[in-house]
Amino acid sequence: MNRARTGAVTIARVRGVALRVHPALLALALLDIFVAGRPAWWWGVMAGAVLLHEVGHALVARGCGLRVSAIELHLLGGRTEMWGTTSEQNLAAVALAGPAASALVGGALFGLGALLPGGAGEVTRFAAWLNLGWAAVNLLPFYPLDGGHVVRYLLAGALGPRDASAITLVSAALAAAVMMALSWRAGLWVLVAVGVYLLLLAYREWVRQGLPSFGSAWRRDRAARRRARFHVVRGDSSAAGE
Ligand SMILES: [Zn+2]
Repeated sequence: MNRARTGAVTIARVRGVALRVHPALLALALLDIFVAGRPAWWWGVMAGAVLLHEVGHALVARGCGLRVSAIELHLLGGRTEMWGTTSEQNLAAVALAGPAASALVGGALFGLGALLPGGAGEVTRFAAWLNLGWAAVNLLPFYPLDGGHVVRYLLAGALGPRDASAITLVSAALAAAVMMALSWRAGLWVLVAVGVYLLLLAYREWVRQGLPSFGSAWRRDRAARRRARFHVVRGDSSAAGE
């Protein structure tokens, strides 16, 4: 079995794209089905929604000349691994393609759910809502969600890529902090943990993009204050000498 750097395991390969599943997701699904007794179709619908969303990203990425090497499903959703360079505009299109695919699948399932009778119709309508919900969640304007990538692209046009990344990542960290505080009050510890993970992701992306480290900014600041104090002292002494 082929293990990726992220720990995910390749379970299939379609047109050169590896389909990988993270063992933690697999373990949770198996426990939920065999211990907690949740029906297996529920996990099938979940995985299907995430997979089709990522396929949307992958298709548009290929259309933009990027190479897609893998689609990964993990505990918090999915990710599409892509390589190459393309315009910022194309990257925004790739980001929008996921929610667009989810919305299309959701709409189609609603139509199908109206035609199907009984239990099949119910499951289909549940899947429709799930896909539409997944589209909406991913459009929230915070990194690492797709909406965050689109906001970054829009800001980059006005402020340049560096400031756009900095603003996107700081707002992502603030959103994660607010989510953590609200979840803490509500006792939703899983969401507190998700918030910690999102903070780490934003920090890692900050470092990866070569944005200034907070330590270095503080050191630069301190050096500037020292220089300023030195000037003031010199000014005082020269004033005293006059
Ligand atoms: Zn997405």
